[in-house]
Amino acid sequence: MTHASARARAIIVGGSLGGLFAANLLVRNGWNVDVFERVPDELAGRGAGIVTHPELFEALAAAGIDFDDSIGVKVQSRVTFAQNGAVLSERNLPQTLTAWGKMYHVLRAALPDVHYHAGGTVASVQDGPDQAIVTLTDGTVLHADLVIAADGFKSSIREYFLPDVKLQYAGYVAWRGLVDEADLSRETREALFEKFAFCLPPREQILGYPVAGRGNSTTPGERRYNFVWYRATSEDIQLPNLLTDRSGKRWVGGIPPTLIRQDVLAEMEDAALTLLAPQFGEVVTKAKQPLFQPIFDLEVPQMAFGRIALLGDAAFVARPHCGMGVTKAGSDAMALVKALQAHTGVRDALADYSRERTQVGAAIVQHARHLGAYMQAQLKNEVDREMAERYRTPDAVMRETAVPARF
Ligand SMILES: Cc1cc2nc3c(=O)[nH]c(=O)nc-3n(C[C@H](O)[C@H](O)[C@H](O)COP(=O)(O)OP(=O)(O)OC[C@H]3O[C@@H](n4cnc5c(N)ncnc54)[C@H](O)[C@@H]3O)c2cc1C
Repeated sequence: MTHASARARAIIVGGSLGGLFAANLLVRNGWNVDVFERVPDELAGRGAGIVTHPELFEALAAAGIDFDDSIGVKVQSRVTFAQNGAVLSERNLPQTLTAWGKMYHVLRAALPDVHYHAGGTVASVQDGPDQAIVTLTDGTVLHADLVIAADGFKSSIREYFLPDVKLQYAGYVAWRGLVDEADLSRETREALFEKFAFCLPPREQILGYPVAGRGNSTTPGERRYNFVWYRATSEDIQLPNLLTDRSGKRWVGGIPPTLIRQDVLAEMEDAALTLLAPQFGEVVTKAKQPLFQPIFDLEVPQMAFGRIALLGDAAFVARPHCGMGVTKAGSDAMALVKALQAHTGVRDALADYSRERTQVGAAIVQHARHLGAYMQAQLKNEVDREMAERYRTPDAVMRETAVPARF
């Protein structure tokens, strides 16, 4: 069976942003689509900010999603604050910042419920001569012409096909959080809102920008400020300490925000007040549920295995400095559908998709690695640190971080 025959079937593993982009695009292209997402409830609540790029809007439009100005908050410029809170440098750079919850909401709302199976966990995927075979953890066996593994950076499907590919820890973590606009002092609101802001104290980097608030509101007064604070964290001692919860359990790769120990949070807040511009100190210490994520690089040599394709973070994870994760997932989905339109056989289409997107994914990972080299150098010797410092002027950071780039 080829995809050209009526109602060819696609199974998508993972119903987050990557899976939803693919599902919406395939449904619009006449596919019979089933998305299996192991989380039984809505995925909203991963309230992180997302930088938008032109390709993200192209992918939303191709997925049939009508969006207007409420998709995000517009800023006109970037600013870097000194540790004492004075403005060091400013740069004109209009951009729209959205939020993870907003993206999820528009993508999920566009997909009819019949296609989305919340609470469905895929146990295994195998390619077969005529169809791929998908087995769920409840024992159900399904057949599909195409399987898309959009199951995130810890993808078990990738692990099955590419057991030697491992996440590479980059040597630093990103603390993230959101604070309600209304909770900030007038001075901080005036300094930060309407801006994409940075502060670069020695060995640290923090950035922040406004995003939609509760109920996805972008109305001034109801927005939130989102921060991402990069901190060098050694793999052997500091990271295991951060990842150990109150009960002594050591988590691998990430810890649920509610389980981060109180002393870890207190140390982070003290550091924020000592190291960061006071505007950022206030943002960090007023954030409701700060969390941290170890930063990883992930690269794969191929994204297709017969009728099975990797998509989004399941294939490539770039450090967040270019702000491309969601855009990359949307562009993967567009490229996949374009390849399916160009071929009568799914295998040929996926081979083309893999060739094109493996190159792009590798280029994005490489670019993000370059942007994050400064943070990585912090754990090395004084010479490396000095060298990295020379390339870390406020102007360079503002010019290069999370800006549109074609890969
Ligand atoms: C610090 C930080 C900052 C970031 N900033 C940005 C930014 O500014 N802009 C941006 O675009 N991106 C950013 N990202 C990246 C972005 O969050 C991801 O790239 C994006 O969400 C794409 O994810 P995905 O859909 O591929 O995977 P995920 O969002 O990880 O989703 C995978 C889904 O698969 C489900 N799943 C897994 N296994 C199974 C299974 N066996 N059966 C069923 N379901 C399963 C999971 O429950 C999950 O919902 C950032 C990331 C970090 C860490």
